[in-house]
Amino acid sequence: MRSGYDFVIAGGGVVGASVAFHLAELSDASVALLDRGEVCSGGTGRSCAIIRSHYSVASNTALTLRSLDVFRDFREALGEGDVECGFVNSGYLILSGPGAFADQLADNLARQRALGADTSSIGRAEARERHPWLELGDVAAIGWEPASGYADPVGTTNGYVTAARRRGVAVFENTPVERLRLAPASGPPAARVTGVTTPDGDVEAECVVSAVGPWTRGLYADSGLSDDAEALRLQVSRHVVLTFGSVAPYGPELPIVKDLTVDNKMYFRPADGGDVLVGTGDFGDPLEDPDRMTAAAPRDLVSLQQAQIGARMPAFEGAPLTDSWVGPYDITPDWNPVLGPAPSLPGLYLAYGFSGHGFKMAPAIGRCVAQSLLGEAPDVDLEPYRPERFEQEALLLGAYGSGSIS
Ligand SMILES: Cc1cc2nc3c(=O)[nH]c(=O)nc-3n(C[C@H](O)[C@H](O)[C@H](O)COP(=O)(O)OP(=O)(O)OC[C@H]3O[C@@H](n4cnc5c(N)ncnc54)[C@H](O)[C@@H]3O)c2cc1C
Repeated sequence: MRSGYDFVIAGGGVVGASVAFHLAELSDASVALLDRGEVCSGGTGRSCAIIRSHYSVASNTALTLRSLDVFRDFREALGEGDVECGFVNSGYLILSGPGAFADQLADNLARQRALGADTSSIGRAEARERHPWLELGDVAAIGWEPASGYADPVGTTNGYVTAARRRGVAVFENTPVERLRLAPASGPPAARVTGVTTPDGDVEAECVVSAVGPWTRGLYADSGLSDDAEALRLQVSRHVVLTFGSVAPYGPELPIVKDLTVDNKMYFRPADGGDVLVGTGDFGDPLEDPDRMTAAAPRDLVSLQQAQIGARMPAFEGAPLTDSWVGPYDITPDWNPVLGPAPSLPGLYLAYGFSGHGFKMAPAIGRCVAQSLLGEAPDVDLEPYRPERFEQEALLLGAYGSGSIS
């Protein structure tokens, strides 16, 4: 490793990888991407990788629409003929019961159309044509996004890393940032970040990008910044994903479903091998340390999801659990990411808090963050995601209350 780079990016998840690629694509700056393990060994590797534009925060829709274009033509977007993001254009259905959510859904669909999304309200008959397995008797409003789908999070991240390497980015796996290097400043602020310390030595950087997701607080603490860690306003939780088998194969082209009729805002989509994959849109289990995540799926959650999926799709009544895994969410107070220069630490740029929905936005976020770092105007204004917004009470709250569909 060299002793210095223009940009050092800590964290080789989809966000760090996308930022690295775009910095190299847009400039001739020297860039190093460091992960403490293998690329994609954090939350990205556990992701369900659903890509939909249904949000009520306008900038989230704008970022996702740009990202969707990338997923739909990944090789073209990255300029590489051998990368693969595994996008499946299954479409996306969103179901609401009667009441407030049904009104919000109609409003949101109109708002997204105004932003250029291909989305509409459809009736139960059309929804059943698109997804014949569904029982929709209790559903009052249905949104439909034909262009949406899901992808392969590992393939996507590796694609960015491959393309970044070919543009000169130095990628170091099994290379943890042990701490941020701080130099005293005449202040305020009293210190600035000048690089990172790794087991292979110190590395200087004009700017360090922290993209370590659920490990952001830990990096602050290890750098002697425990007080500043509080201002991150970051909570970490454990999310469980379950797969269930069925009497007939659940085809890969069946639309993804978001079910707002249940309290946990369940979502489901095709999984490998003809199974269905089910997750929840709620907080999950609070987690002190993302490295101490128990892998077991709680029995009461399995029973609940089995009942919920069986009620929505009778073919899954009593369906056997075929697999499960867990992954960490990095959750901010408004369930939206933090993007911008760290307020009290010049030399550090923060990209964390993707709150369970960052995969779908990562292509556009990587480009916009890179543009900002290079002093250009980003395609989408990132100001709404500034770190200071919590203390300024300028939260980016969504129409459906707290949750990843903000
Ligand atoms: C179960 C689950 C399901 C999800 N489903 C969806 C979905 O359907 N759609 C969607 O859009 N989003 C989804 N998400 C969210 C999405 O996957 C994440 O928001 C996104 O992947 C976050 O990427 P990241 O790069 O910020 O973080 P991560 O992927 O967590 O990457 C952080 C990286 O930093 C590394 N690291 C940590 N500490 C250090 C250090 N000190 N030095 C160097 N490296 C370090 C880690 O090894 C890791 O590779 C889901 C997440 C989970 C967990």
